[in-house]
Amino acid sequence: MPFCSQCGSKHEESNLFCPACGHKLKVNTSLQEGKEVDTKFRQNPISASSTSGDTKMYLTVSVFTFGGLAIISLLFGDSLGLVLSGAIAAVIYFFGMKKFDDGDTHTAKTVCLMAGIVAGLVGLFLLLSGSMVGAINILVAIAPFMAWNSIGK
Ligand SMILES: [Zn+2]
Repeated sequence: MPFCSQCGSKHEESNLFCPACGHKLKVNTSLQEGKEVDTKFRQNPISASSTSGDTKMYLTVSVFTFGGLAIISLLFGDSLGLVLSGAIAAVIYFFGMKKFDDGDTHTAKTVCLMAGIVAGLVGLFLLLSGSMVGAINILVAIAPFMAWNSIGK
């Protein structure tokens, strides 16, 4: 049980002011931090949702993996892989991530599914055409599928 620094009377730990003299008591910091976090979560319900965070992460991973693939394709002189991987990265970024940020989860979900399917097909096509680098598209197609799966859960 804490004591008031002003008058020395006992008070409850949760008290903000001393019940005897009205002196402002030292605020319990952990309690205040908890309140702050709570307020932040209430002000921004999107970031508070863990599924939304997952979607955002998968979308980011998708854009970076396809963007990375485009760069790798460029380094290997695989112009077809560069164009296709770059196009998928751009589509996920502009029609997936941006739409998702705008709250248009329906479009984002559709785009993620389409991007995943297209990436899988593009990867297969590139594999058959002899581009081993482009074939990685099949593997990274998992990322937009994960994003698609996490939206609207
Ligand atoms: Zn007091």
